[in-house]
Amino acid sequence: DQPLAELDPEIAAVLEGELTRQRDTLEMIASENFVPRAVLQAQGSVLTNKYAEGYPGRRYYGGCEQVDIAESLAIERAKTLFGAAYANVQPHSGATANAAVLHALATPGDRILGLSLPHGGHLTHGMKINFSGKLYDVAAYGVDEASHRIEMEQVREQALATRPKVIIAGWSAYPRHLDFAAFRAIADEVGAYLWTDMAHFAGLVAAGLHPTPVPYSDVVSTTVHKTLGGPRSGLLLSRDAEAFGKKLDSAVFPGQQGGPLMHVIAAKAVALKVAAGEEFADRQRRTLEGARIIAERLLSPAVAEAGVSVVTGGTDVHLVLVDLRRSPLDGQQAEDLLHAAGITVNRNAVPFDPRPPRVTSGLRIGTPALATRGFGAAEFTEVADIIATALTEGHAADVEALRRRVATLTEAFPLYTGLVQ
Ligand code: PLP
Repeated sequence: DQPLAELDPEIAAVLEGELTRQRDTLEMIASENFVPRAVLQAQGSVLTNKYAEGYPGRRYYGGCEQVDIAESLAIERAKTLFGAAYANVQPHSGATANAAVLHALATPGDRILGLSLPHGGHLTHGMKINFSGKLYDVAAYGVDEASHRIEMEQVREQALATRPKVIIAGWSAYPRHLDFAAFRAIADEVGAYLWTDMAHFAGLVAAGLHPTPVPYSDVVSTTVHKTLGGPRSGLLLSRDAEAFGKKLDSAVFPGQQGGPLMHVIAAKAVALKVAAGEEFADRQRRTLEGARIIAERLLSPAVAEAGVSVVTGGTDVHLVLVDLRRSPLDGQQAEDLLHAAGITVNRNAVPFDPRPPRVTSGLRIGTPALATRGFGAAEFTEVADIIATALTEGHAADVEALRRRVATLTEAFPLYTGLVQ
């Protein structure tokens, strides 16, 4: 029963180093967040020891009385939070949740229609070397060349031309709301299922600050660890338990997975409880406010003069897509520059990007983690100015001065106070 630091000092040092990194930098990767301490506690618990293949009340293992309670709580909380008739909380991740959705709704060889990867779609929506691209016949819609928005008439034309079995709404890098009613109408017109992957914006939906896809979609999938702020994992929902419940359950287990991660499911239940509260809604409001502040700052004339702009001219969500196609910095250089200043973001292709995916001409900047850290309008204004200064001055930027400004912010908003890893 040795403590980690004694048993494995090398891994102990990684945990400590990572906690320090998270404390001392500004986390602005749009898909990341900081989980509450209670989530860390549930996830680091003895529930990791338990096998529980099956579902609450119908397991293939004995001794499931405690974990049944945890999973039932998670299911009920997910249904209530999102107004769904059905929930499955077992997917280990967003990708396995999505694999289960396609497993339930389609047969290998069937056509699926999703947002193309270079325009903001996800790997699991049909990328060539992902399971989705290998098993299914992939068609894609993109954003409009001029507006960089998903124009529903173009989606409809693609759907009519390709006649998919499943239409996918959802994205990994797109700064605007989707028109779920229009997606539903198109799915009905061509006789397709509508699957929405709300991985990125689920937290905003939970707080009532983003249109909900649940009443319009046959199936909704999400990750739990992005705006939703829970443990790294996935979740499935449906408005229609009768039509899709059994299919989805058996697609997750035994279709895609074996034993569920009960420690993660307990942590999911905790996160879903948190997401139903007023503090969570306030955090999502600050998330949106922060993204708007950053977009506005990066749209100012001085920044535009340096060749930097914002895809679609703003944002409705928790992220800003920065367009560097006319900047001397490419995506990789901009990511490295902000990293040196203590701000973590990821480079990201912009629509019609002339550069290869490893370099790109864009940045994806997200505000969920900093909103969780407590940032409000004043702090996001300062963050926006640090980013704007770095991107306008480019290679000539005074990185040390920027780093000091970052340190002032991180010191004023301590993270996981007193936590020892
Ligand atoms: N779906 C979308 C829209 C995503 O953006 C992501 C992750 O980036 C996923 C699914 C996959 O989630 P995971 O990384 O948990 O497999």
